[in-house]
Amino acid sequence: MFPNAKCELDFETPFQLLRAVIMSAQTTDKQVNKISPNLFKEISLSSDVEKVWLEKIEKYIKKIGLYRNKSRFIFESWKKINSEFNWLVPDNIKELQTLPWVGIKTAKVVMAVLYNWPYLAVDTHVHRVLNRLWFVHTKSREQTDKKAEILFSDSDKSRLHHLLIFFWRYHCTSRNPKCETCPFTNICKYYKTNIMK
Ligand code: SF4
Repeated sequence: MFPNAKCELDFETPFQLLRAVIMSAQTTDKQVNKISPNLFKEISLSSDVEKVWLEKIEKYIKKIGLYRNKSRFIFESWKKINSEFNWLVPDNIKELQTLPWVGIKTAKVVMAVLYNWPYLAVDTHVHRVLNRLWFVHTKSREQTDKKAEILFSDSDKSRLHHLLIFFWRYHCTSRNPKCETCPFTNICKYYKTNIMK
């Protein structure tokens, strides 16, 4: 269904991807891509310490929701990567999660997109889709994340990461999923309990 599925956030450097992922929480990738160029141009990992401050980041991203929190996370990440990681975004799950706001989902996104490691990031949407299709039968995103770790092979995970995002974003949406054109109706829990009925 989605042979060209890929990360839809614009970025050129690891730190740009990390910032874009932070900004994308509860915001569309399109909105993030609109505001990213100016922010990226103004602040990079090598920016002079004197030239980066919280209010400046707020000014660039204030058109997106939760911009105050997101600005703080970007600012604190910038400081921590500079002071503790020698200006390099960590390339492993454990160290990534020491950055402000970065949890297991974001760490997996960075590892899958940036370094092509075999990780499948489970957010609420992926949790929903995997449950609808009976891959898992779980109550929380965390439970789904743990099950997905063992359910799929490493060779499939990073590809699945992109495919599942496209699937929930453009087909199996939270409200009004496109069941009428879906090839998975015969194995779908949602279809059987909501549509067929
Ligand atoms: S049948 Fe509908 S709910 Fe089920 S996977 Fe397809 S689009 Fe999603």
